[in-house]
Amino acid sequence: MKRLLKGGHVVDPVNGIDHVCDVLVEGGRIVRVGRDLPVDGATVVQIPAGLVVCPGFIDMHVHLREPGQEHKETVATGALAAVAGGFTAVACMPNTSPVNDNANVTSLILARAAEANLARVYPIGAVSKGSRGELLADIGELKQAGCVAVTDDGHPVATALLLRRALEYAGMFGMPVIEHCEDPSLKGDGVAHEGFHAATLGLRGIPSAAEALGVERGVLLSELTGSAFHVAHISARASMRAVRKGKEAGLRITCEVAPHHFTLTDQALASPIPYDTNVKMNPPLREEADRDAMLAGLADGTVDAIATDHAPHHYDEKKVEFDRAPFGIVGLETAVPLSLDRLVHGGLIRLPRLVELLSTNPARILSVPGGSLSPGAPADITVLAPDLKVRIRASELRSRSKNTPFDGWELRGGVAATLVAGRTVFVNSDVHTGL
Ligand SMILES: [Zn+2]
Ligand SMILES: [Zn+2]
Repeated sequence: MKRLLKGGHVVDPVNGIDHVCDVLVEGGRIVRVGRDLPVDGATVVQIPAGLVVCPGFIDMHVHLREPGQEHKETVATGALAAVAGGFTAVACMPNTSPVNDNANVTSLILARAAEANLARVYPIGAVSKGSRGELLADIGELKQAGCVAVTDDGHPVATALLLRRALEYAGMFGMPVIEHCEDPSLKGDGVAHEGFHAATLGLRGIPSAAEALGVERGVLLSELTGSAFHVAHISARASMRAVRKGKEAGLRITCEVAPHHFTLTDQALASPIPYDTNVKMNPPLREEADRDAMLAGLADGTVDAIATDHAPHHYDEKKVEFDRAPFGIVGLETAVPLSLDRLVHGGLIRLPRLVELLSTNPARILSVPGGSLSPGAPADITVLAPDLKVRIRASELRSRSKNTPFDGWELRGGVAATLVAGRTVFVNSDVHTGL
C-alpha cells in the first residue's frame, strides 16, 4: 500500500528537515520526503496544520516483565502502551524471570512481540548469567538471537573485572554495555536521595556519589577497552560531569535521562502526598541542582537520549510503606507530553533536538533501524500534536500497571498518531489526524 502524508510539519534532523512537506510511504518503508510530491496513485492522507511528523520514537529502556511477572506487564500490554505513548520501538531490559541471559528467553520475547504486532521490541541481554554478577552470559549467543545490547540493569555489573570483560566481548559484537551505575556499598539499603527531604522524613539515603562512582568506573573501563559504554537513567550532577569529561576525552560514552529526573525533585517525597511510593525509584529523585544539571545536559548535547525506565508494578505492590515498596514508575505514556511541555514549550530545546533525543540517538546507540526518514528507512513515524492540552489519567493508561506520580497533571503537547512499518497502530481520539 502506497500512502502520501501531505502537509505535516516534518522534523528529521538527520536530513536537515524542519518544515512543511510530504512523506511518501510504500511497502512499509519511506520512499521520499519533499515539498509537493506527486500523488502518483498513492492514498492521500492530509495531515492537519500544526501536527508534526517525525521519525518514530524509540524508548531504549523499558521493563516489560514477561516472562515471569505478567501481572505487572506483558510484552503485548507494554507494546500497546508504547504505541499509545508515541513509541514505535522499545528496548526491553533482561531482569525478567527467568533472566534474559540466553537465546530461549530472547526468542520468547521476540515471538510475543511479533504476536502483539504493535511496537517493535528489541531485547537487551544480561551481562552475567542470571544477572548474578558471577559468570559472563554467552554474549555471542544473545547477539545471534536478536539482542541489541547487554546490561545487568536493576543492579550494576558486580565487579570492575566483569564489566571490563563485558565491554570487551560486547564490543567484539558491536553492542554497547548499558550500565545501571551504582556503588552497592554506598547505596546500601537506601530508599531515597540522601538530602534534606529524606532526612526530615526519616528515610534512609542514597548519596549521589553512589551513582557517580559507577559512571567514573565505566568511563575508565571504556577507555581501557575502547568499547561503547552507555549510562542508564543518569540522575546526579556529578554523573553528568563525569559523562561530559569522558566525551571531551573522545571516549565512546553515551547517556540517557528519564523524564522524572528532568521534571521532579526529592521535594516530591514530602508533597503533595508525603511518602508517596510513586515517587520511589532507583536512582532516586534528586535535588534541584541535579534536576537543573539534567536540563543543562539535555540542552547542551551531553545527554544523548530520553528513555523512560518504564517500570510497571502492581497496585498492591506499591500500596505499602515507603521502605517496602519496589522502586520504579511507568513512563511510556507520559514521556512525550512531559518532554514537549517542559523541554520544548519550556524553551530549553527545539523540536529537532527532541527528535534526536527520542529517535535518532537511541537508534544510533543500539544500531537499530529508524531514527530518520531517509529513503529506504522503515516507515516508523510518530505524529505529534505539540499544542494539544493533555491531562494524564493514571486509570486510563494502557499499561497493565498505573504507578505514575503524574496522575492529574495537565501538560501541553501530546501524541497524535503512531505508525509502524507504514501501518497506523495508534490514533489519539482527541486529535483529528486524517490517519
Ligand atoms: Zn536501573
Ligand atoms: Zn531499568
